[in-house]
Amino acid sequence: MKPTQYSEKVKEHFKNPKNVGEIENPDGEGTVGNPLCGDMMKMTIKVSKDGRLEDIKFKTYGCGSAIATSSMITEMAKGLTLEEALKITRKDVAEKLEGLPPIKMHCSNLAADALHAAIKDYLSRKERGEVGVQARVEGAFDYDVIVVGGGPAGLTAAIQTAARGLSVAVFEGKSWGGVLSTIYPNKKILNFPGLPDNTLGRDFVTNLLKQARDLGVEMKNEFVNEVSPEKVVKTSIGTYRARAVIIATGTLPLACGIPGEADFTKGDKGVYYYVSYPEKFMGKRVLVYGNGEQALESALALENIADKITFAYKEKDLVGFDKNVKAVKRSDRIKLLSKTELVKIEGTDTVEKVVLHDLDEDEDFELVVDMVVLAVGMTPNTDIYRKLGVEVDERGFIKVDRDQRTNIEGVYAVGDVTTDLQLLVVAVSQGATAAHRVSEYVQKQKGF
Ligand SMILES: Cc1cc2nc3c(=O)[nH]c(=O)nc-3n(C[C@H](O)[C@H](O)[C@H](O)COP(=O)(O)OP(=O)(O)OC[C@H]3O[C@@H](n4cnc5c(N)ncnc54)[C@H](O)[C@@H]3O)c2cc1C
Repeated sequence: MKPTQYSEKVKEHFKNPKNVGEIENPDGEGTVGNPLCGDMMKMTIKVSKDGRLEDIKFKTYGCGSAIATSSMITEMAKGLTLEEALKITRKDVAEKLEGLPPIKMHCSNLAADALHAAIKDYLSRKERGEVGVQARVEGAFDYDVIVVGGGPAGLTAAIQTAARGLSVAVFEGKSWGGVLSTIYPNKKILNFPGLPDNTLGRDFVTNLLKQARDLGVEMKNEFVNEVSPEKVVKTSIGTYRARAVIIATGTLPLACGIPGEADFTKGDKGVYYYVSYPEKFMGKRVLVYGNGEQALESALALENIADKITFAYKEKDLVGFDKNVKAVKRSDRIKLLSKTELVKIEGTDTVEKVVLHDLDEDEDFELVVDMVVLAVGMTPNTDIYRKLGVEVDERGFIKVDRDQRTNIEGVYAVGDVTTDLQLLVVAVSQGATAAHRVSEYVQKQKGF
């Protein structure tokens, strides 16, 4: 078969798919996705009293072969026992479809995965004595606690609640460890009390993850799209319910919103919000723009790597930890431009120059650079929680009381999403406080 050619059977199932839709009140459901091609599949099943697949329906967002394989597997599995259905493989589906183009083989794999996930969901509901989705929403819980966000605050909250004997799942949508692993994996953590010298961000994260796993915390690589006041958590993959939810979604770098910025942020075209991998800047002419710790650390990280560093900021003086301010001022490799605003970033395919505005002289001037680091601050990652009705302050941080409670009962928030202090020690202590209070809350809910 040619790499792109579809068989007649695939075309037939694509044009007239069987069993499209969603079973109301299913006995089991499974959703899987392939992040590379973007295909998403949801299977819902009904199981007969004698343990056979009585009905199967699918909803698939994807290519022709994703739809054809979904349609085919529902036809193949209907009437089978669960054990028989669990044995259906990707190869079986592809063979029934008289072959798939090699690059599409992952799609049939997805259909088998979705069906298997639905069957496993049914089996675990059965084990918990649930009957259908209705009962699940009304009474049954997947976990005592769901933590949204796998950074230091969320992982600490999970570790501490699991240590108190609660069932806990942490959902992480991007990178375990939060900004520690994405922004500065190789940075030494110098200001965390009691931590050995030279501990790197990634070592700290590795230890947190190990502790969480050792305590039986379920680690889910799923982005949370919605949390309801009933503590129903909808993710990119499925729906879960907990007795309590801890929000630990941290912050995102602030965009400057200037012309040219958006053109060069993706695909290594020259605009960055932090210096995660300094070696990328080797021998380059770099503008660091902003003020405060994020900007100071960016400039210092590049000090002995970049060819030329210009550090521009709107204010008269640099602000941040005294040690870092002094180090930047002392450096003969970092050129400082105070009272200077970044106006525009220009280039053809990659960054070639910037336009700056001298606030004293009130005039624009150009600077030839290869890369720009925009370090103008971080903003709390709260957008999806507005719908939940969580109160935020004027800068968007989630409002919490001294026990990390939000205004919604059973919903807590910890870490950078609640405060501009942005210190690891604060994030983990908030995680510990929330864990303690959540444990009391859950025990009360359970009638202890
Ligand atoms: C450049 C820089 C340097 C720093 N240096 C230091 C330092 O030297 N010392 C120090 O003490 N502190 C430092 N900090 C601060 C410290 O890193 C933070 O305080 C800490 O990481 C906060 O942890 P957190 O768990 O609240 O948030 P984060 O670390 O931001 O983690 C939040 C996590 O939630 C995930 N998430 C968000 N939304 C969703 C969703 N909808 N579904 C699923 N997952 C989601 C994110 O992907 C992320 O992994 C620094 C911060 C920065 C930016």
